[in-house]
Amino acid sequence: MTVRLIIARPLPGTVGETRRVAHLFPVRPDHAPPDRMTVYCGEMFGPGVLELPDRPTGMPCVSCLRHSPGPDDAQLPAGER
Ligand SMILES: [Zn+2]
Repeated sequence: MTVRLIIARPLPGTVGETRRVAHLFPVRPDHAPPDRMTVYCGEMFGPGVLELPDRPTGMPCVSCLRHSPGPDDAQLPAGER
């Protein structure tokens, strides 16, 4: 199964600049917007606090990169199962 990933980072002013890293989360199979998004590193975000850049930008979240699925490892974060 292929998992489509979305890059998102906190909007300016919602966290300190050093925490505005680019997180990863999967597109839900039903494409329904969740009330809260759990990114691969385990952080949770409510509505209206993330920006979805058109292209990769900013410092990546290393923990999200480490926990995101590889080509043969399609898994959702624990909060999205
Ligand atoms: Zn992250």
